Amino acid sequence: MLGLMQDWPLRIHRLIDHAARHHGGRTIASRSVEGPMHRTDYATLRRRSLALAQRLVREGVQPGDRVATLAWNTWRHIEAWYGITGAGAIYHTLNPRLFPDQIAWILNHAESRLMFLDLSFVALAEGIAAKLPHITRYVVMTDAAHMPATSLPGAVDYESWLAEADGDFAWLPGEENAAAGLCYTSGTTGEPKGVLYSHRSNLLHALAVAAPDMMGLSAMDRVMPVVPMFHANGWCLPFVAPLTGAGLVLPGPKLDGPSLHALMQAEGVTFTAAVPTVWLGLLQHMEATGSELTTLKRVVIGGSACPRALTSAFEQRGIHVVHAWGMTETSPIGTICGVKPEVAGRDAEGVLDLQETQGFPPFTVDMRIVGDDGVEKPWDGATFGNLQVRGPTVTRGYFRTGDALTEDGWFETGDVATIDPAGYMHITDRTKDVIKSGGEWISSIALENLAMGHPDVAEAAVVAARHPKWDERPLLVVVAKPGRTVTREGMVAHLAPHVAKWWLPDDVVVVEEIPHTATGKILKTKLREQFAGYFGVP
Ligand code: AMP
Repeated sequence: MLGLMQDWPLRIHRLIDHAARHHGGRTIASRSVEGPMHRTDYATLRRRSLALAQRLVREGVQPGDRVATLAWNTWRHIEAWYGITGAGAIYHTLNPRLFPDQIAWILNHAESRLMFLDLSFVALAEGIAAKLPHITRYVVMTDAAHMPATSLPGAVDYESWLAEADGDFAWLPGEENAAAGLCYTSGTTGEPKGVLYSHRSNLLHALAVAAPDMMGLSAMDRVMPVVPMFHANGWCLPFVAPLTGAGLVLPGPKLDGPSLHALMQAEGVTFTAAVPTVWLGLLQHMEATGSELTTLKRVVIGGSACPRALTSAFEQRGIHVVHAWGMTETSPIGTICGVKPEVAGRDAEGVLDLQETQGFPPFTVDMRIVGDDGVEKPWDGATFGNLQVRGPTVTRGYFRTGDALTEDGWFETGDVATIDPAGYMHITDRTKDVIKSGGEWISSIALENLAMGHPDVAEAAVVAARHPKWDERPLLVVVAKPGRTVTREGMVAHLAPHVAKWWLPDDVVVVEEIPHTATGKILKTKLREQFAGYFGVP
């Protein structure tokens, strides 16, 4: 027997419909790519998204077509996401920090047929346009007054192009399981892989991560997604904010510490999210200028492990750090470090210990750790295992390459983790980064976090170097803060009280700079190549 409740496919337009109707006047403030601040609201954004969907249909875009975006976080980018999906097409986000040839490869693999791009990326697109046979139209996200002369085929400015539609349009109907978004993983090795979100998965994900122990957003919040929309579905914030009625503050292209600080203060931001490197820049600025953040209450930090020193610096300023783990493949939130009764009532150090873990999953994710033999490992907080996840917001395969699950239906994350008896998951490494010394595993992340707590260290990475006796031993690579000196003895003395003796790095190398990936993570593959033979084993 079927239930008698209304059939309401979980399509993305529901989110913006809801926000426009029930939170219609809430402000969306953006730093525009042209420079000045721009203000709009959910009701206006919905109207313009409808016009955008109508204009795309007139352009010949069909349900299921991929439409690329190469853009910063602005109101126009959000309009594009809702307009593209409202026309039944699929937003395909591109990371401008990738090599141009890689972007071209991804566009051709996806066969995206139209591109929305910011002014900042016109030159980049011109450089690869000849290699992109599928793209027939480039919509530059600006107005006629700022439109540059360009050789891009079919180039138009966004505002003039959009003005050709009157917005008298209804969202195209479709199934909730239809594809809605496409995001390629950063792929530090091998070809990038496309993760294809559905309307349903994005909507369930937004509902699940809005919950109090997760992001816990409300209509009273002013949310600033610093994490770019091209990084892992923008951590879903362009969906969660409208769902909860929270206002939005969008930083556009300016992601440096001083710009973020000024924007948060001017716009009364209460909640923000980004990778650790962004926050290191902000805190450095605050330390140098003696400035504070008076409205910010919570900051979600993820994408790579959040160092304890960073968490502590925020907490000391009364800003709560919410450590999160996820992947492009998990929409992206896999776990968030909320507080369960089992761990409540700790002192400040105990809370910091907890915040080093990545927490527990939202309703839409299940997780387990297994050995290389596939047998599940205990949740004792000490045993390492390969982290696997499953659920309706977890990918089951990649675009055009088929299934990617274990025989019993789990997704292998490529991360190594422990889970404690209270169910808190702690990432200890990427499978490829863990240091295998004499048959035991050493967590590079744990050592990096400790090293980052040294007052003279600006950034730290630990890599495995081949060793004649132990197979691999840890090597600590550090960047010193300006004007400071870091020594091997000093670092070892700093680490020694916190780790087993056999975990201590065999040497410390001071470098000018540590290489990063296009999403701001430490590029371990490059460091490993550079230092693999450091202990004399070829
Ligand atoms: P991406 O798909 O580019 O977001 O990369 C996902 C990977 O980033 C994960 O598999 C982890 O290796 C890493 N990652 C994300 N969040 C965290 C975190 N909080 N702590 C440690 N690693 C993380």
